[in-house]
Amino acid sequence: MKLVYTHPNLAIVVQAASLLEQSQIKCEVRNEYAAGAIGELAPINAWPEVWVVREHDATRAIKIVEGMQQPVDAPDWRCRQCESNNPATFDICWHCGEEISHKETSAE
Ligand SMILES: [Zn+2]
Repeated sequence: MKLVYTHPNLAIVVQAASLLEQSQIKCEVRNEYAAGAIGELAPINAWPEVWVVREHDATRAIKIVEGMQQPVDAPDWRCRQCESNNPATFDICWHCGEEISHKETSAE
């Protein structure tokens, strides 16, 4: 198990976890109930956390949640490998891990 993400807002933590699950990364949310009443922020030592089950997934998991936090100002892109749609903030396909190729989408 490895901690990959923590945030005082449980909704964002849950969103991160579901994003990882969509990417075939097994994870679990901890401190889920530490935040107290809805809308209240937890003290820093009790923030909800996302843990990946397999440590070798951690690097990819961190990339995915980092991508989630960036503002979206570009259109989605389609993976040339598996044809999944990816948010513009992703550098790699959430589905198969293929890297984005801007050049190939604009060519031809
Ligand atoms: Zn793909």
